[in-house]
Amino acid sequence: MNASLKRLSPLLGLVASIALVSCASQSGTGGYGRDEWGHRPGPKGFTTVILDAGHGGHDSGAVSRSTGAKEKDLTLDMVNRIKNELGSSFRTVLMRHHDAFIDLDDRVARANHYPNAILVSVHFNSGPSGVRGPETYYWRVDSHGLAVRCQRAMAAVSPAEQSNRGMVRRRLRLTRNPEIPCLLLECGYLSHPAEAQLAQSPAYRQKMASAIAQAIRDQSARGDAGTGALPPPLYAPPSRPTDAPE
Ligand SMILES: [Zn+2]
Repeated sequence: MNASLKRLSPLLGLVASIALVSCASQSGTGGYGRDEWGHRPGPKGFTTVILDAGHGGHDSGAVSRSTGAKEKDLTLDMVNRIKNELGSSFRTVLMRHHDAFIDLDDRVARANHYPNAILVSVHFNSGPSGVRGPETYYWRVDSHGLAVRCQRAMAAVSPAEQSNRGMVRRRLRLTRNPEIPCLLLECGYLSHPAEAQLAQSPAYRQKMASAIAQAIRDQSARGDAGTGALPPPLYAPPSRPTDAPE
């Protein structure tokens, strides 16, 4: 290296690191790209919403003892309602259209195909008697703002909450492993008789779907504005089916 290049080299290093930062935050096609860790602010201006109906096929998910409803059927109904509520303002992708089983790792791989996208997995919960109300699971920093918006939206529709966990940061296959912002929503407890009854009501599911769609629109329009401080970055390996529950 000659003397003049030597003087320039710190500057070249700086230029190289700026280029690296901008590559890491952008996909090849522009917009909000894939990122393994998600240690970045939440997305604004995303164009694709991937809606994942939890469970399916031989995996029924929770089954209400009082109404007999299966989680896998309610989640498929919910994602169709959310898709309709979102209308043409986004490209919406349904992870499944039918009563079919899809492995969680396959759901993650499919989600990773889409640039400038978010993933919302929809579920209904089951737990100890007396517990009711919506919950939102997230892990990535870039999913925090959307999680706040969705939890607020669902809580506003839910007429009562009791001993539920609200918003929870948890490393799950659908909250840690996708390389795009991702959430898992629990719309209510099927194990709670009154909440299971609400989940049976198409009007109630429509209100819930409409609130979730509005939260998604707000996130795309405003990014993380008004959703509070971002949580600290966490470093943990991808979630595996063999992991002990956290
Ligand atoms: Zn579920």
